[in-house]
Amino acid sequence: MITVMKFGGTSVGSVEALKRSAEIIIRSKHSTVVVVSAMSGVTNYLIGHLDSGELNASETVDMLRKKHLDVASQLLGEELFASYQEELDRRMDNLEYLLRDPESHKDPYFRDDISSQGERFSSLTLSYYLRELGQDSVALTSEEAGIHATGMPGLGSAELSLTSRDLPYNVRPLLDEGKIPIITGFYGRGPEGKPLTFGRGGSDYSGAVVAHAIDADCLEIWTDVNGFMSSDPRIVSGARTIEEMNYSEAAELAYFGAKVLHPRTIEPVRRKHIPLRVKNTFNPDDFGTIIHHLRAPRGELLRSVAMKSDLSIITVNSAEIAYRPRMVARIIDKIADAGVILYAISTSLSTIALLIHNLDVKETLRHLNTLEGEEIDRIDVKSNMCLICAVGDNLLARCGASAEIFGAVREAGANVELISEGASDVSLNFVVPMDHATSVIRQLHEKYIGV
Ligand code: ADP
Ligand code: ASP
Ligand code: MG
Repeated sequence: MITVMKFGGTSVGSVEALKRSAEIIIRSKHSTVVVVSAMSGVTNYLIGHLDSGELNASETVDMLRKKHLDVASQLLGEELFASYQEELDRRMDNLEYLLRDPESHKDPYFRDDISSQGERFSSLTLSYYLRELGQDSVALTSEEAGIHATGMPGLGSAELSLTSRDLPYNVRPLLDEGKIPIITGFYGRGPEGKPLTFGRGGSDYSGAVVAHAIDADCLEIWTDVNGFMSSDPRIVSGARTIEEMNYSEAAELAYFGAKVLHPRTIEPVRRKHIPLRVKNTFNPDDFGTIIHHLRAPRGELLRSVAMKSDLSIITVNSAEIAYRPRMVARIIDKIADAGVILYAISTSLSTIALLIHNLDVKETLRHLNTLEGEEIDRIDVKSNMCLICAVGDNLLARCGASAEIFGAVREAGANVELISEGASDVSLNFVVPMDHATSVIRQLHEKYIGV
């Protein structure tokens, strides 16, 4: 039996957390492959420095070196600490070189390279700590493990077939020798061998990709809450853990904002029917959530609600657009050319409304404006919208379900700006202004899930 365990930022973010994670790994009765995030705060720190434009290479590297050495010094004995320090220094020197080298800055994958550095440090720390505890372990970068990626900078997708070819070749022999591989999450080996990240929170996806490639029996996502919950516990204080979900429910909620899983985590494990567990590193005996193919219906109207904020509705007005399907196709083509994700779409006789991220508005308008002369009357933009995703048993087949949900939305004093119903058979999605989103979620939760 092989289990892939992914530990998130908080699970490797402190001495105490690393102790708990290591104990969970050692207690496992199966062959274990581990995937790790960067220590919490590290990726944000690296990205913050990239964005500030005032990148001071030695300051950045010194801060990161100190943070990791401080933790390692509390976990490792003298001997292992010395060799850890040597390896960490090599990785830090590489980061400093990248930050200082003007040529590297011109590389389209520079951001990916810098933002994925934290995983290279945390994987080393956890692997050394396991060795300190007498457990043979090897830290592997995504390149060494054989995780291949393709796509645009910052938006990589794993190349599942290449990864399935190479990763078992690199990782299985280690398992056969009784070693625990600790693999960097968040990125893969992209075009020309450059690091390509999978988007923020992408280590969950890395875990799923590794589980898929090695034909694991189970993927465990170890995080800082008791599993997949009925809503984000930071928004709804009464949120409850959902013990069992099917792949579609989890995928929809993750895609529409449930941050506990990166939206792309489900597909690689679904393809191979690998069950996924979400568990709490700080409460490992709690059952957590199991996500798999089948789930016995429980009959409740709502099981979980998620929200995706910072969205905009772009409305393209053009007379009788509904009778000109090619025009609709061209508009969609322009969105695709802009490389923008469409979260919902809705049409009427003379308009087409598209839901996209606030940050994509400028690029989308630039592309739509090239449709000039093709009878577009007007384009309107409504920003700061929030998409609410409500998942429940047979939600769409239930007579009156929408009326109940929208009744609760009215009680929260919100206006529904766009509805997307029927696209998925497990969820009802609708858009409200961002400043009403929290009260809508709380209202729905209180009424249909429980305080
Ligand atoms: P990690 O660093 O372990 O990957 P994340 O911060 O990415 O952890 O994800 C866990 C967080 O996701 C939780 O602390 C919680 O605030 C948030 N979250 C949002 N929606 C949900 C949900 N439906 N269930 C559980 N947690 C959620
Ligand atoms: N460290 C990366 C991030 O913060 C990936 C992850 O944690 O999943 O986005
Ligand atoms: Mg995460």
